Amino acid sequence: MSAEVEAKLRGPDAIKLARRALDLMETHQIWPTPLNYEIWVNYVADPDGELARELGALLNSGEVITEAVIEALASKYLAKARLNEQIRDAGDLLGKELELVSKAIKQARRSTAAFGETLSGASKHLDDKTDGATLRLLVDQLSSATRRAQSETEALEQRLTESTAEVERLKEHLEQVRRDATTDGLTNLANRKAFDEELERACSESREGGTILTLALLDIDHFKGFNDTWGHQTGDQVLRYVASVIGRVGAPPRFAARYGGEEFAMIFPGEDAATVTATLEEIRLEVSSRMLKRRSTNEDLGTITISAGLAELRREEAGHGLMERADAGLYASKRAGRNRVTNAETLSVAA
Ligand code: GH3
Ligand code: MG
Ligand code: MG
Repeated sequence: MSAEVEAKLRGPDAIKLARRALDLMETHQIWPTPLNYEIWVNYVADPDGELARELGALLNSGEVITEAVIEALASKYLAKARLNEQIRDAGDLLGKELELVSKAIKQARRSTAAFGETLSGASKHLDDKTDGATLRLLVDQLSSATRRAQSETEALEQRLTESTAEVERLKEHLEQVRRDATTDGLTNLANRKAFDEELERACSESREGGTILTLALLDIDHFKGFNDTWGHQTGDQVLRYVASVIGRVGAPPRFAARYGGEEFAMIFPGEDAATVTATLEEIRLEVSSRMLKRRSTNEDLGTITISAGLAELRREEAGHGLMERADAGLYASKRAGRNRVTNAETLSVAA
């Protein structure tokens, strides 16, 4: 959430804005989930913002605002705002830490210089005629200067140890932020943003190395009906279950992501359409043969099925072209009655 929107939501019109957001959500039949609410409250609080403009255009076009649309908006606008904020915070902390270290170093330099002066001053006083009392005085001065220099060095060391620990902590925090920004909260799979990046990366790696790559899209069948019958929460449990199967099969070097709503994407580097078809068939069978039970009540939920489409990367093809063909495969699976896997290549032959 941007700082301006945040300020408005703590201002005098806060309740009015919240009500307008909820009213609009009701009008457009949007579930009052925290994420949905965040999107809509941004929409009313910052009507000229990018998010509001995109959502406004969607509403004007009469498009149905599905969960997938909301999630796409959230990962485009909200995640970015949050990430930027956290990175800024970490940057501030790092800056402060460095300032402290540089102060400690300056202080240590000054004490070293003072120590040097004491030493050279002492040597000037030293000659053949130096008597015992003067010598004792000099030695006293020297040893107290040495002690001062020692304690300054210790203070500097302490400061550096603390800073190293603090910088380490910040590094871990940033790593966590990065993980959060690329992970889907519900399923723990990679999110759409991470997938888009990985697909581009994997496709260019494939092109450069002259290796093959296959992409698959999987979508739960009639999931809207499942939610309508059993409720959104139970739907979420099923989503997590399907994601766990896909995540297990999609372990590295493969890559599995929740692409949006009840749709998943998998990248298979170095695998051709035939082996990927076989793998997707295994996933399809495993999911469809599992008798689902509601956790809280142990109630029988029956079974669900998934449809999939896949396509093998063509030479000189970009990620989005591959996506389109895999999606055509998925669409064909749906049209042919669902609960099946379609290789996009077989479509062009049939067409
Ligand atoms: P099809 O077989 O054609 O894919 O039908 P479908 O009902 O699965 O597809 P449709 O795109 O019409 O609806 C997708 C549904 O997925 C709508 C929504 O209720 C559900 N869904 C999307 N995201 C989530 C989520 O995060 N949690 C839950 N519980 N349901 C979700
Ligand atoms: Mg579906
Ligand atoms: Mg879908």
